[in-house]
Amino acid sequence: MRVDVITIFPEMFHGVLGVSMMKRAQEHGAVEINVVNLRDFAHDRHQSVDDRPYGGGAGMVMRPEPIFEAVESLADNESYVILLSPQGRTFSQAIAEELICHRHVVLICGHYEGVDERVRSTVADDEISIGDYILTSGNLPAMVMIDAMVRLMPGVLGCAQSTLEESFADGLLEYPQYTRPEEYRGLQVPEVLRSGNHGKIRQWRENQAWDRTQARRPDLYERLKKDDRRADTGGGDAAKP
Ligand code: SAM
Repeated sequence: MRVDVITIFPEMFHGVLGVSMMKRAQEHGAVEINVVNLRDFAHDRHQSVDDRPYGGGAGMVMRPEPIFEAVESLADNESYVILLSPQGRTFSQAIAEELICHRHVVLICGHYEGVDERVRSTVADDEISIGDYILTSGNLPAMVMIDAMVRLMPGVLGCAQSTLEESFADGLLEYPQYTRPEEYRGLQVPEVLRSGNHGKIRQWRENQAWDRTQARRPDLYERLKKDDRRADTGGGDAAKP
């Protein structure tokens, strides 16, 4: 898979893409990540990519021509072009899983007051937000999305099982995790986890995952229970509370 990022701050990506799992994934050829400076596509000698909004108002808006031309230089008809925007559909684990099925993803990072609407309506196949808050630019959202996608790619994490047992993988939050020491400041690791009884451990973890999800994310819990009831009527098995 290739991911191209179009930004006016390519240097912001160097640290994030150059360490840990993200670095290894590129070195091992699981993903190719290419950061493109939008200013290289500017039309004037000042390399400006923004202008005042038609109709007046605060701030500057990113001009369409550099973005259209940057995308055209990178994309073919199989590319999936995403505009980062607080007005898009909200990013999730399910969307990360959906996106890694594309051979090529292009992420357009906005800045200033936003991006000329013709980019959204003509160039972008999708518009994605990382949450209901306003950030200065699309750079951090692009990094968040790349991280979430890359760790799902085959061979990137040492153990493929890790992505299957994480929060949201099956719709539930993950069960609590413990490591050594067995006791710290009087706080004990639950006995069942030290029992060596894999059946009991699996059951304990499943119950904990359901309890946590119910307590912390009642929205997810209700949705899962509803899906489960649907599966029941169709003959699905329900081992849930
Ligand atoms: N004026 C815009 C609005 O009210 O919708 C917000 C513009 S924001 C300051 C500048 C850029 O940051 C956006 O074009 C987008 O690329 C990015 N951005 C800001 N918040 C974001 C979010 N929650 N998710 C994704 N991108 C975001």
